[in-house]
Amino acid sequence: MTLEEVLQFSYRWCQDLDQAQIRHELGLNPNTGVDWDCFCREVCEMELFENSVKIGGESKVVQIGESKFGKRINKAVSKAIYKELRNRVISTPSAQKKYNSCFVNDTFDWSEIYSLPHRVTSDTKLREFQFKLLNRYLVTNDFLNKIGVLPSPACSFCGKESESLEHIFISCHYAKDFWAEVIKWLYNLKVDVKNISNREILLGMPGCEDEFFVNHVILITKHYLYSCRCKNTYPLVNVFTARLKKIQDLELLIAKSKNNLSNYTAKWGKFLRNTDLLFTYLKYSALDSFHTYQGEHIWVCRVL
Ligand SMILES: [Zn+2]
Repeated sequence: MTLEEVLQFSYRWCQDLDQAQIRHELGLNPNTGVDWDCFCREVCEMELFENSVKIGGESKVVQIGESKFGKRINKAVSKAIYKELRNRVISTPSAQKKYNSCFVNDTFDWSEIYSLPHRVTSDTKLREFQFKLLNRYLVTNDFLNKIGVLPSPACSFCGKESESLEHIFISCHYAKDFWAEVIKWLYNLKVDVKNISNREILLGMPGCEDEFFVNHVILITKHYLYSCRCKNTYPLVNVFTARLKKIQDLELLIAKSKNNLSNYTAKWGKFLRNTDLLFTYLKYSALDSFHTYQGEHIWVCRVL
């Protein structure tokens, strides 16, 4: 469907028109009509589940559907819910409330926090991962145990404590040791993040020195820790740096295709100054000249 058709469909859907009528007016085939009808309902359902508020009230009867538990929510009910949602006062999302309660002394610029992954990487997988973490959608054993999927909430790494998001990324000693290795590795690249806080691990460090590089590395580290948890393996620094190298190579290719090597060099400059990695890097590119970045000479490679 074109954007115009999507808007036309959504508008008519909100006006309570019948699906067959909408299809007829927009000349859509039946499958497309059914799909978009379902999408519209799911948007209402997701919004409702994420920001649960009391609906109805005195002398109001509210019918609750069971779509997430087997039965599809019927259209009349979903539209009633949508109308309630339109009229309600927007409250703080529950994930933000949770982070506020974890870090009571901090103030949060949520628009900055949410936009950070989009600024530091074009990798949609990493952006999606951080979005899920910010909204606390990432599955942990703690959650799987609560819903009866796993018999124990024990951590996938240490097997001792309950596996919450905070545990798997911060307090588990496997995670702590791994962060210490990454921080040491960054320090060798003259990137000092020794004082990184728990909050910065989870939400990122907007506005820090080497913002793009540091936050990208933080994202990759978290994503790597989580993928180890999913694969039942332990995190290893060698595997992590190999992954980082792959990502850097990919960004080089993208920079080549967009003819935008200056931004690429500004972001990865300190990484490329590492002699071993520079050596590997030179396998792919031809050495061109010295350039100055933040007062220091760095190698800039002419892309073949
Ligand atoms: Zn653990």
